[in-house]
Amino acid sequence: MKKDNINRVEEVLKQSSRKFPEITGTWNPVIGCLHNCLYCWARRYAARLSKMGVEPYASRGFQPTFIAERLRRRFSKNSFIFVSDMGDLFGEWVPDRWISRVLDKVRMTPQTLFLLLTKNPQRYLELGDLPDNVVLGATIESNRDYPSLSNAPPQSQRIEAMKKIEHDHKAIVVEPILDFDLEEFTRDVKELSPSFIYIGYDNYGFNLPEPPLQKTSQLIQRMLEFTDVRLGTIREAWNVKTDY
Ligand code: SF4
Repeated sequence: MKKDNINRVEEVLKQSSRKFPEITGTWNPVIGCLHNCLYCWARRYAARLSKMGVEPYASRGFQPTFIAERLRRRFSKNSFIFVSDMGDLFGEWVPDRWISRVLDKVRMTPQTLFLLLTKNPQRYLELGDLPDNVVLGATIESNRDYPSLSNAPPQSQRIEAMKKIEHDHKAIVVEPILDFDLEEFTRDVKELSPSFIYIGYDNYGFNLPEPPLQKTSQLIQRMLEFTDVRLGTIREAWNVKTDY
């Protein structure tokens, strides 16, 4: 990473008492996704917006769409922006030229930090040259594969891709958390060396194959030994009987 960009990123990080600042906004120059995860909140939200007549959802639904005018948006200095939370910018179906236009805008905005998040991190490797002012994120809900829940590349492939990526700041999102193997998952995440990890249970009642709370607490403790941990919804698994 170039020195002036290191300094800018460090400046952003200093704004927070934590190692990484909180997300300050979202930006959706590309929307839509074909991974068709069973538990997708974005698809449901897009359907709601579509019914309300909100564009581009009213005309495009959740189909992959590039919204060129959103490239004109201005970002405040030192903000931390989540890119395309209403889709997957790095899905196999996304044309290179859409990604290039988005990344060019990111490069032209060096005083802002951007979070990229995908279930197809292999695409980061294929693209190669990525801007310095991004955190490369991957959603990896478990070390185990769950092909019946999504058409996205399996979790094991995502882990291997993230291990190969050399970038100063990487992030892992374990949400919605799915049952995992404690030792293997801890070892994998440690090896891919994230700047932070976000962990949370499903928020929408999909009755997913969740780990019991005690196991998740152990995972959190283990992750805290080597990275910054953020927590989403933390609760008992839906299928665990409790006395309270
Ligand atoms: S990858 Fe994300 S946006 Fe795409 S279907 Fe799955 S949850 Fe939804």
